[in-house]
Amino acid sequence: MTVLLAILLLQAGPAPRDIGLSVLPQNPVQGQLLIIEVSGALPGDTVKGTFGKRKLRFYLDKLSRVRALTSVELSQRPGQVSLTIEVVLPDGEKVIKGLAVQVRAGEFDEINLRVNPKFVTPPKRVQARIKRERQAIQQLWQRKATWRKWSGSFVWPRKDQICSRFGVKRMFNKKQKSRHYGVDIDGRVGGHIRAIGAGRVIMKSDRFYSGGTLIIDHGLKLYSLYFHLSGFLVSEGDLVDKGQLIGKVGRTGRVTGPHLHLSTKIEDVNFDPLSLLEADLFEEAQVAP
Ligand SMILES: [Zn+2]
Repeated sequence: MTVLLAILLLQAGPAPRDIGLSVLPQNPVQGQLLIIEVSGALPGDTVKGTFGKRKLRFYLDKLSRVRALTSVELSQRPGQVSLTIEVVLPDGEKVIKGLAVQVRAGEFDEINLRVNPKFVTPPKRVQARIKRERQAIQQLWQRKATWRKWSGSFVWPRKDQICSRFGVKRMFNKKQKSRHYGVDIDGRVGGHIRAIGAGRVIMKSDRFYSGGTLIIDHGLKLYSLYFHLSGFLVSEGDLVDKGQLIGKVGRTGRVTGPHLHLSTKIEDVNFDPLSLLEADLFEEAQVAP
């Protein structure tokens, strides 16, 4: 009897936990979103990790997947970037897993643009304003992370043609070089702009370069930014739903014509909004028949 009990106890002992680590896409290009997934982790575990030098913020989605969103910096040199995670089990045991993510070079067009010269050589009287606006926006990225407000896949802010992609190398008035840290979507002045996901409006402002500007905090340091608006339909502090109308297309700030500029950030790093809009983040649980 004693022997049988010992065998039973042995069999009932905790099985070693099988923790898996995966990343999508497996070979991302510069500036692209990455979905990190940890399998085998359970509620009660603590999951931490880094991609390169950047901290990962894990969440449990409605399908019980432990995931984190991060991105490859546009300036990341092609080659390996290390991904490391640490899962601390409730009994204190630590499981560490790593992957070398192979980053590919992106292909980026070069274009020349003509804008009002004041945006290339800003007059003295607006320099204090530019500095103030830059500081105000920097402060947003320093704030503490808030809880996750988005769920499922993101939606397009408007249905129209893309007129300029992320990462394009631009030359303004043959003088000033810059990269395009967002995507431009065509539109007429007054056209609808919708929130790409649920979140809180953390900035509604009229700025020198970006004109009418809205910024939404989606939680876990994921943000979407909407530039050059002619009108606002929300206020700072508002919680907005996915797809909610938030503003109107305009031609304010440094533009060559009316359009919506959409940027997306994780922490303070810009990444390609298309890689977020096209990511499959489906998480609605199936209803049992
Ligand atoms: Zn743009």
